[in-house]
Amino acid sequence: MIEQQALASPENETGGILIGRYDYANDRAVVLAATQRPTDSEIGRTWFRRGSSGLKQLLRERWKSGEYYVGEWHSHPGGSPEPSSSDVREMRAISRNPVYACSKPILIIAGTVGNSVSLSVSVMEAGLLVRFRTQRYGHTAMEMK
Ligand SMILES: [Zn+2]
Repeated sequence: MIEQQALASPENETGGILIGRYDYANDRAVVLAATQRPTDSEIGRTWFRRGSSGLKQLLRERWKSGEYYVGEWHSHPGGSPEPSSSDVREMRAISRNPVYACSKPILIIAGTVGNSVSLSVSVMEAGLLVRFRTQRYGHTAMEMK
């Protein structure tokens, strides 16, 4: 899902939110879905301002089955999946914003070069962005430890 969306937008950054479930026993989050870009997002070659159209309703729906907002994803067209300093700042702001109710938001970045995609997965924890090793299961599910 993330890979396809990132490749489909070779000129501009694109992105959305991550929805998942917390597995408290094993201290991990399981990302179950990455949304498409909200229609009110603003995009540019090296920046992305995610909109919020439709997300409130989607999250309310998912909440009924124990699924929550767990973070953000966006693409870096023609670039590495390394988080930029503004990515770190944004994730820090989200972790401290009570509206998100997510103190450890996850960030997935899809760097694309031609037809190949490389992903980075990080989590904002206590003000620092920590990079994870990833294991992938299928197209949309991603488990992290
Ligand atoms: Zn970025």
